[in-house]
Amino acid sequence: MAMCSELVVATGNPHKIEEIAAVLAPLGIEVLGLADAGGADLPEPEEDGDTFEANARIKARAYAAILGRACLADDSGLEVDGLGGEPGVRSARWSGVEGDRSTRDAANNRKLVERIRDVPEADRTARFVCAMCLAAPDGTILAESRGTFEGVVVESPRGGNGFGYDPHLMLPGEDRTSAELSPAEKNARSHRGAATRAIAARLGASGVDTGASGTNSDTGVA
Ligand code: IMP
Repeated sequence: MAMCSELVVATGNPHKIEEIAAVLAPLGIEVLGLADAGGADLPEPEEDGDTFEANARIKARAYAAILGRACLADDSGLEVDGLGGEPGVRSARWSGVEGDRSTRDAANNRKLVERIRDVPEADRTARFVCAMCLAAPDGTILAESRGTFEGVVVESPRGGNGFGYDPHLMLPGEDRTSAELSPAEKNARSHRGAATRAIAARLGASGVDTGASGTNSDTGVA
């Protein structure tokens, strides 16, 4: 049983919030996005880490310090073996095209299709990676986790669920992309689902106090 009933997820990405909330709801944990936690217009911290873990820490610590309460951050992306792990930590803005999230996603997917054409089928193996970090306002790391979701990159997009690169990640041994999974199926198998469940287990196991009451309480691992 988790020690908190409310958790701030420090992201403006509604897809991430939906996925994390769906995993945590059955555990009695309600997820608040930045907008719900009074952080709608906060400047985004610079994600200049070399790893998903480093960037998750940067985001969790930055938002926890500003909001004065523990924050969970997710840093995630796609690693393609035949592209040397690209787009990796640069997944969100890989194409360099600015615009809203769907514009950026579409440009990233165009770049993926162009780059993958030169990659032999056998090297198109890839995975989504999600690193999560729960940080306290004083910068203490309360919990961390990592999840992966293996697949193969395909040139033709399929499916209307999910977001980002989902339509281009074919699941091994199946004729379905990640975007063809229902939200519940994706959560049961995905990088983000696994990372979220690991954080939830850590919350329950260690009695982490996330300051769920909204007060700037003493956050730490019991
Ligand atoms: P972040 O917001 O800096 O963590 O960037 C995450 C980026 O990685 C997103 O914009 C997507 O391009 C990609 N990504 C992460 N998770 C997923 C997923 O579950 N499906 C598809 N793309 C994802």
